[in-house]
Parts: sequence; C-alpha cells; structure tokens
Amino acid sequence: MRETRAERSPSDEETAGGGAEEAQVIVVGAGPAGSSAAYHLARAGVDVLLLEKSRFPREKVCGDGLTPRAVHQLIRMGVDIKAPGWTRSRGMRWVAGDRQVQIDWPALGGFPDFGLTRSRHDFDDILARHAVAAGARLRTGVKVREPVTDRAGRITGVTAASEAGPVAHRAPVVIAADGASARIALAMGLQRDPGRQIATAARRYYRSPERSREEFLELWADLRFPRSDHYLPGYGWIFPMGDGRVNVGLGALPHRRHGSADLRATLDRWLARTPAEWGLREENAEGPVRSAALPLGFNRHPLYTRGLLLVGDSGGMVSPWNGEGIGQAMEAGEVAAETTALALALPPGPRRERALRHYPAEMNRRWGRYYRLGNTAADLVFSRSGFQPVLNRYVMGSPALLNTLARLLTNLTQHPSRDAIDHVLNTAVRLVPAPGPRRR
Ligand SMILES: Cc1cc2nc3c(=O)[nH]c(=O)nc-3n(C[C@H](O)[C@H](O)[C@H](O)COP(=O)(O)OP(=O)(O)OC[C@H]3O[C@@H](n4cnc5c(N)ncnc54)[C@H](O)[C@@H]3O)c2cc1C
Repeated sequence: MRETRAERSPSDEETAGGGAEEAQVIVVGAGPAGSSAAYHLARAGVDVLLLEKSRFPREKVCGDGLTPRAVHQLIRMGVDIKAPGWTRSRGMRWVAGDRQVQIDWPALGGFPDFGLTRSRHDFDDILARHAVAAGARLRTGVKVREPVTDRAGRITGVTAASEAGPVAHRAPVVIAADGASARIALAMGLQRDPGRQIATAARRYYRSPERSREEFLELWADLRFPRSDHYLPGYGWIFPMGDGRVNVGLGALPHRRHGSADLRATLDRWLARTPAEWGLREENAEGPVRSAALPLGFNRHPLYTRGLLLVGDSGGMVSPWNGEGIGQAMEAGEVAAETTALALALPPGPRRERALRHYPAEMNRRWGRYYRLGNTAADLVFSRSGFQPVLNRYVMGSPALLNTLARLLTNLTQHPSRDAIDHVLNTAVRLVPAPGPRRR
C-alpha cells in the first residue's frame, strides 16, 4: 500500500532522492507540466516519481499571467485560488499607438470569467506540493542526465545526479516535462522542427504600487526595434502582481528581415515612454532583466515514442498566438496522465502501446489545427509587423471584432459552439487541414 501524505514529512519527500527508485511512471521536471501530470496520475492511483533538479521555492523566468483557460486547469486540480497571494484580473487592456481598449474575459460558462497572476516563485511550489499531497513522490535537487533504454530503444528509466551521487531510476513510462531545454527528448532523438521559429521573452519586476492592483492584464502592441522604426514582432506586457509589484516584459519572434531584437534595449526604450508615476524606472527595479526561449506551436514531434511522452515546453506547446504556455503545459499534463493511467491498466505489449499513442492523437485533436493556423499567422503576420496590423483602427473600434480576436488569441472557445463567436472561430479552425500523425 502506498504511504499517505500524513505519514511522510515534506523533507523526506524531497531529500530521499539518494537511492535508486522504481515507479509506474517517472516525471522529469516539476514545472506546471510535470506537477500537473504527477498530480493527475497520483489521483488515478498511479505510483509516480517526480524528479526536479532545483529546490523549491525557486525562480522561473515568466510573465506570471494566467488566462481563464489556465485558471480552469487550476480549478480542475483543486488548487485553492481563493487563498491569499492570487491576484485576479478582469480582462485585458490592449494599447496600440494612441488607442487603448479594455476587454473583459468572456462569461462563457465553460471557463471562469477571470484570470490570475501569481509569481512562479510561489506558483510552481504550490503545484508541486499539490502533487505530493495527492500521493506523488517528489525528489528535488535531482538532475536527470539521460534516459535508460532497453535493446529495442524503449525508455525504461532515467539516470540522475543527486547529492548522494549518480543513480538510475526505473519505470515503464517516462513523462518528459523538463521545459524548453528538452534534454530527455533530445537524448531520445527527438529534434525540434527547424522550420519553426523560437520566440524569446524577457521580464523584470518593478515596485509600482500605482499599477500593482490594476484589474487588467495590459498588453502593448506598438513597440519598436531599439534603433529603427520597425515594429517589434511581438508585444510588451505589464501584469499586476497585487503585492506592490508588476511583472513587466516583452516577447518577440525573430523578425522576418531584421532578425532578433535586443530585448533589453527595446524594454528600456518602451518603459521610458510610460508615465513616470507608474514607477517603471531603474531605481524601482527588482533584480535583473532575465530572458528565456519560448518553444511555439508544437515544434517537436512525435509527442509520444517508445515509452516517452513530451508535455509542456519540452513538446513545444507554447501557443503561437500569444506566447502563453502555463495553461497549455497543465492541460497537456492532465491528458498525458489520463492516457498513461489507462495504458498502465493494460498489460505491457501492443495493447498498452496503442493506448499510449492516444496521447499525441488527443493533443492533435485539441490544438493541431488551431496551432497550425497560429503558426501560419506567426510566419505571415506577427513575425513581420507584430500585432499592429491586427489591432488597426477598425478592429480597435469594434467591440465584436475585438472580442472575437481576444478569444482567438487566448483559445477561449467552446465545443460545441454556444455563441456566434464560438461558431465563427470553430468554423475557421475546422477549415484548416489537420496535421498528419507523426510516428517514430
Ligand atoms: C519571459 C517569459 C514570460 C512568459 N510569460 C508567460 C505568461 O505570462 N503566461 C504563460 O502562460 N506562459 C508564459 N511563459 C511561458 C511559460 O513560462 C512556459 O510555457 C511554462 O513554464 C512551461 O511549463 P513546463 O512545465 O513545460 O516547463 P518549465 O516551467 O520550464 O519547467 C520545467 C521544469 O523542469 C526542471 N528540469 C529541467 N531539466 C531538468 C533535469 N534535467 N532534471 C530534473 N529537472 C529538470 C526545471 O528545473 C523546471 O522546474 C513565459 C515564458 C517566458 C520565457
């Protein structure tokens, strides 16, 4: 019988990572993807070992913004989002040139009508604790080095470096949730698609009591390259943290003609434009500007091969429409967990294999066409002139168009369609040819 949370102290859970362990599933990485997968597996009664190289709480470079779709995933996990520390948002404010508009999150029924912000410093810790409370075995300070495979090339575990030295952990199924570095996927021969662009994003915290309790997530679409007048192929954000700080940052694709922008210089040029009373100046900054990559639009395939499932950034799941990846990582974590729990109920062999192959098929069903359309928009529009052409005077002046665009960018549609916007967006996405299955 498995131990329960009450029988184990948190310190045991974390530091018992010295010796080799066996489990039904190993999850590598305790970010949103890994902790969600581990939580849902544990809830399904699966014995799951969650390996994380850092120790919580720890920083993660992020904008800390959660749209209603991501909030929905937190609710599905039973995370207490009414507890102190969560800051609710009412919608988005888009700024483009001399125009700005506020768009409330839609009241759809199928998703909450609010968003949230929470620093990843706390957020990832909360999710990992939640997985532990459900029964997952968390080992922090354990850096996974490489997969262990059998003669057929099927993954049977991972080797890791822990404080007690190198060790091999074993499981018939491994979930790679190790983020954009995708170490495990690469070691299993899963390269990223070289045709897909990688965005980069940078962020910094500022003390700004003036903006910290704002009700809207603010997005600026009219940023320009530091030393030219070309629009940045991306956008800037100011997200209220509710604790006297804001998370300020920008993300961009490489420009079709001008290459990658100097994000730091672009940030400085942009913030100099903001009103002094907002406080977005050097003297109010907390910590340095930090940046990281955003693997977009399913840029690594297949999402399942030889006992290994890719979840979150390791599978390139950041939305090509808006650069959002937390909710996507959590949703994919849940699908991966459901698929794996079902597969483990079957004997090893072809039947189990068929069940595991359901994971890429289901992810493709959910987002395949939507991401394909987003990748095309990123190539043809966003990587040339960012969001400026989309947020033109005509769109900014039309509530119907704005709401449609907002729901397209944040993937807030329902199936089957319940209103006219659902109908328009679902029809548009259905017209996109479905990406074919990719196996290896
Ligand atoms: C500047 C910036 C701003 C962003 N803003 C937003 C935003 O506002 N909203 C949003 O939804 N998304 C945002 N994103 C995207 C979001 O951060 C990612 O998509 C999300 O973190 C993906 O979650 P994940 O669990 O797949 O990966 P990660 O969050 O990267 O987690 C991976 C985990 O694996 C661990 N790990 C890695 N290698 C190993 C190893 N070898 N052994 C053991 N453990 C390992 C890491 O320590 C980490 O804990 C932003 C990204 C950037 C760079």
